[in-house]
Amino acid sequence: MTLTAPAAAHEAAHARELTRAELLRTEVPGPESRRLHAERLEHVPQGVSWALPVYIESGSGAILTDVDGNRFVDLGSGIGVTTVGHADPAVVAAASAQLAKLTHTLYTVTPYRGYAELAAKLAERTPGDHAKKTMFVNSGAEAVENAVKIARKHTGRRAVAVLDHAFHGRTMLTMAMNHKAAPYGTGFGPFAGDVHRVPNSYPYRDGLDGAEAAARTIAYLERRIGVGELAAVIAEPIQGEGGFIVPAEGYLPALQRWASANGVVFVADEIQSGLARTGRWFASEHFGLVPDLVLTAKGIAGGLPLAGVTGRAEIMDAALPGGLGGT
Ligand SMILES: *Cc1c(COP(=O)(O)O)cnc(C)c1O
Repeated sequence: MTLTAPAAAHEAAHARELTRAELLRTEVPGPESRRLHAERLEHVPQGVSWALPVYIESGSGAILTDVDGNRFVDLGSGIGVTTVGHADPAVVAAASAQLAKLTHTLYTVTPYRGYAELAAKLAERTPGDHAKKTMFVNSGAEAVENAVKIARKHTGRRAVAVLDHAFHGRTMLTMAMNHKAAPYGTGFGPFAGDVHRVPNSYPYRDGLDGAEAAARTIAYLERRIGVGELAAVIAEPIQGEGGFIVPAEGYLPALQRWASANGVVFVADEIQSGLARTGRWFASEHFGLVPDLVLTAKGIAGGLPLAGVTGRAEIMDAALPGGLGGT
């Protein structure tokens, strides 16, 4: 990726700062972070937890500065969100200009320019050269929920299959789609029905090649759900929250072929693996996978609330006018 001139200057400034600066000015967490943490404990529920109780004042590129003036390399990246870094000048300029002009009308009431422009970009960047359409929502979980709605409407079927070790979000439907009960689901049931968990490909642990792992997954799908019931298979091409699990070569394309042959919508949840996180625009590309629907969030907007469902035009058009959206 070539950097624009302002971005290159910004990077150079970092390199200089890092070599001369004392990164830590106080103990960690510092006194102001400790004060803010006590305030937080009083006003914010513990369910909204923290990894490191260091309160951040500003960010630039990969560097975070806390409220006590300590600086850190941001290996957290908001969990795969700040892929282009903090306060990138090009992003700040574009977002500021838009903020000064217009923030909201509701696209389904009186539309504006950017929605279809971004949809066209996603059609170009996501795998496959078929006709595609995109809808946008506010979060990754909401993208997953909409993919399920669209796949059900398109197929007229109800069941959805998810893989072992999957993570798909924290809303009522996506909670039922996660592998881990604690902390995501424990005590929050009843859970949405028609969600089935099937084995994934985990070559480091299971020793199966792609074809063997796909045969195992497909056997589960056929026996436990039945093809006539199954609307969608939803897979992270490289699993994220489950532990950065890379499937065996050939596993995902074999699943996709089976899905296509059986009228099942194959959904790639690229919310964490997409947007250049794995070195390609989408992790699907590493495996020659062309999903029917591709989900984006996280890195797509660097922390502003945006997510997308991009997919085959004929599938995306299944929902009736007004069936998709949100204020
Ligand atoms: C983070 C994540 C989600 C949920 O995205 P939110 O924006 O937090 O709702 C869904 N799927 C995967 C693979 C994720 O990593």
